[in-house]
Amino acid sequence: MSDKKELFAIFGNPVEHSKSPQMHNAGFKKIDFNGNYIKHLVEDGNKIKEIFLENSYKGANITVPHKEYAYENADEVRGLAKDIKAVNTYINENGKVIAYNTDAPGFIKAIESFGGIKSVLLLGAGGTAKAISLALQKEKIEVTVLNRSENKLDFFKEHNIKCYSWENFQAKKYDLIVNSTSAGLKDEYLPCNKKLLETLFKTAKFAFDCVYGKITPFLALAKENNLEIKDGEDMLLYQGVLAFEYFTNTKASKELIEAMRKGLKEG
Ligand code: NDP
Repeated sequence: MSDKKELFAIFGNPVEHSKSPQMHNAGFKKIDFNGNYIKHLVEDGNKIKEIFLENSYKGANITVPHKEYAYENADEVRGLAKDIKAVNTYINENGKVIAYNTDAPGFIKAIESFGGIKSVLLLGAGGTAKAISLALQKEKIEVTVLNRSENKLDFFKEHNIKCYSWENFQAKKYDLIVNSTSAGLKDEYLPCNKKLLETLFKTAKFAFDCVYGKITPFLALAKENNLEIKDGEDMLLYQGVLAFEYFTNTKASKELIEAMRKGLKEG
């Protein structure tokens, strides 16, 4: 173990509920890395780089509502984050702030357990949907976006992703239906019309909800229709694991991933 303790943080507003510290600190402990990961409430997203450097953080994660600010403020953005235009990970590389988006590859890792997905219907058009849709496109998995409002669809059109609002959508067959809306997070809403979901579930095999830690009405309905279901816990875990690899410059082993999962579930 090195002598100097490296400091890491999660920036958000609110940030109190975040499970990232317990997940990353469990990882540090597992590999004997001399690090400490804390919660840091950031109110003004435009100060994010300044706060990162002033506090001598080695790395950080960024959550709601600062991912776009973090993208704008970084010295260098790497990978798919350049297209997504939102980042959730900062690294201090010799005084330069390097930014990544690990939500996108985290989602891809999370759906691997379903196996053999060729087509996805993605409900929602927010920040998470942008990341997921580009990650799927990169994997050459056919992706279609369906959102309540038409005015959020420009991003997807610009990236040649098929996209519809509730008004002009016609159901087809998709292997996987993903809820990336916030419906079901703090309420009991379905992400779209129940009849439409039932039609989609007749031909789909899998359903995934980005919300974690609960069976949302969306997942409950999918289960009723005999689909294999999964909540957002693995997505949260894998975005964390990928950030951890950047933080510590290591490759995560199975044992480390399980230690981080255990950390995530604690408390
Ligand atoms: P945004 O606020 O950027 O987008 C929200 C989206 O949800 C919009 O498309 C909005 O539609 C839609 N929406 C909200 N309420 C409803 C409703 N009642 N019916 C239909 N559509 C609705 O959110 P994010 O993209 O940042 O986050 C989306 C979800 O993903 C959240 O639940 C969040 O907790 C989860 N998440 C999980 C992660 C994980 O690691 N597991 C990581 C990141 C996010 P409209 O455009 O019409 O307003």
